[in-house]
Amino acid sequence: MTEMETSETPAERRRRGPRFAQNFMSVLEISRDMVCLCVEGRIIDINSAGLALLGAQQARQVENLSFRKVMGGDYAAVIDELLHLKEIETSVFPAKLLRLDGHRSEVELQIHPARELGEAHAVVIARDISRQGHLARTARDSEARFRVLVEQSMHLIAQCHGGRIIYMNESGARMLGAEASLQGLPVAEIFHGEYREIFAEDLSVLLAEDSVMPVRLARRDGSVFDAQIRVSPLPSKGAVPEFMIEARDITAHHRAVAALRHMNETLEQQVVERTRELGEERSRAVAGRVFVENLLDAVPNPLWWKDVEGLYRGYNRAFRDMHGVDGKAWLGLSSAETLPSAFAAIAEKADHDAMGECGRVQFEARLDFADGQCHDVVVSKTAWSYQDNKPEGIIGVMLDITERKRMEAELRRYATTDALTGIFNRRHFMQTAATEIERSHRYKHSVSALMLDIDFFKRINDTFGHPVGDEAIKAMAAACRSAIRGEDILGRLGGEEFAIMLPETDLDAAMVAAERIRQAVSEISIPTPKGPVVFTASIGAAQLNETDSSVETLLSRADAALYEAKTGGRNRVVAG
Ligand code: GH3
Ligand code: MG
Ligand code: MG
Repeated sequence: MTEMETSETPAERRRRGPRFAQNFMSVLEISRDMVCLCVEGRIIDINSAGLALLGAQQARQVENLSFRKVMGGDYAAVIDELLHLKEIETSVFPAKLLRLDGHRSEVELQIHPARELGEAHAVVIARDISRQGHLARTARDSEARFRVLVEQSMHLIAQCHGGRIIYMNESGARMLGAEASLQGLPVAEIFHGEYREIFAEDLSVLLAEDSVMPVRLARRDGSVFDAQIRVSPLPSKGAVPEFMIEARDITAHHRAVAALRHMNETLEQQVVERTRELGEERSRAVAGRVFVENLLDAVPNPLWWKDVEGLYRGYNRAFRDMHGVDGKAWLGLSSAETLPSAFAAIAEKADHDAMGECGRVQFEARLDFADGQCHDVVVSKTAWSYQDNKPEGIIGVMLDITERKRMEAELRRYATTDALTGIFNRRHFMQTAATEIERSHRYKHSVSALMLDIDFFKRINDTFGHPVGDEAIKAMAAACRSAIRGEDILGRLGGEEFAIMLPETDLDAAMVAAERIRQAVSEISIPTPKGPVVFTASIGAAQLNETDSSVETLLSRADAALYEAKTGGRNRVVAG
């Protein structure tokens, strides 16, 4: 072939031999593989598939191109030899084609000598296997991944072919307690009892169940366990059906479910029991609280309790009655907000002391009650604590001692006064007089004493009766009382005998007073059915002197003067 011939374009060649070219082109275009005619290693003609494979748009981009330029890899060196038909290699070999756009295509290449067409003519056929290569690699990768998934699965995964196991993963072998590989084992043998009979016939019955089925499986040692199983058909090339078996041991699951159920039931029982107990406790607690409330309300003394802040936290009925408090009106309030200020101050100090070191405080006070009366009360306050002896507040109890105080006063009065006349009795007069004498001695003040006795009193008793005598005694006391000063001390020494201490009074002044009394007594007239009773009294007076050591001494001198008055004719005053 000449240089001229090799540079001939396909168009020129077509003009040169239209029939041949037409035939050849139709052959080329039919193929989906690249078909190109090379003469001395250069592309003379190429089909559309070839243009596409080389990344060319038009035929002229590759016409006359040296084929070795589109060959990469090791074959670039030998391709010329092959295309010049110096070496003949008709088998398919893999190669890489360098496309015009710089990418590479994986191809299977086949070079056919075409000597029939001329010297160094060769037909190159290239099949693009990039896609297949990619698919194959992807398939290889996915298979590897799937194998890992299958092998690492916690469940049994087996492949069956014609009723026999042809593959089982490690978890499956472990689950079935198999020492050796179970390859070749009839699949029915992994089932237990009646399942075995069912599946010995045909495993495809399971296929009808497209979901998971509970079955019983048998280990190699014959022991049985519960499992869930799923059978899926595998794409099979031959006529023999292939299945994938997937099984999960649910013994532990069953145990867990049973344990849970048991626990649930136990828990439920416990809840029911506890609810009942709580109900009882609650009603006991409510009953307890109601009982305590009733108990406290039954106590007749006012009771209350406060927190550490000194705020009322509770009180009983007596407390409410005492203060006229409605229900819970005082709860959360302080003493200052509820009680008269003077009493509140005492109460708050007592709270403070009780919660301090004292622990318990008691005080007496007077308090206005809701009844409008002022009462004498004793309040006792005790700190109460719950834990660690830390005070939580105080409990207060109040005792109304008004009556006791009244009785005490009464008793005191009884002890000091004469019942008939209401003036001092002998004992109290002597005590008071002694005090006065002591005081007069100390301050060197004068003091005088009078001794008085009704004249012929027996006659009054005898004539008018004892009660009239009593009236006379009372009238005598009243006359004395009205005739003397407030600071003068009047006492009934016994019968119809009286004594009077006159502080800051010398004998002369005492005589004047005595005369005034004598006069007043003589003017007494007690009306009786038998006519008015009149009487007189004799009085002896004496002034305290330095030698008088006691009341008795002074009184005895006054008494001596009284005796003189009696013997001197009665109804008179005599100085001693
Ligand atoms: P004289 O002038 O000498 O004093 O004569 P008298 O009768 O008053 O004598 P005397 O003082 O000795 O009498 C006292 C009498 O007073 C004796 C007694 O019966 C009476 N008497 C004493 N205590 C009471 C009393 O509480 N009530 C009454 N009614 N009589 C009393
Ligand atoms: Mg007498
Ligand atoms: Mg007398």
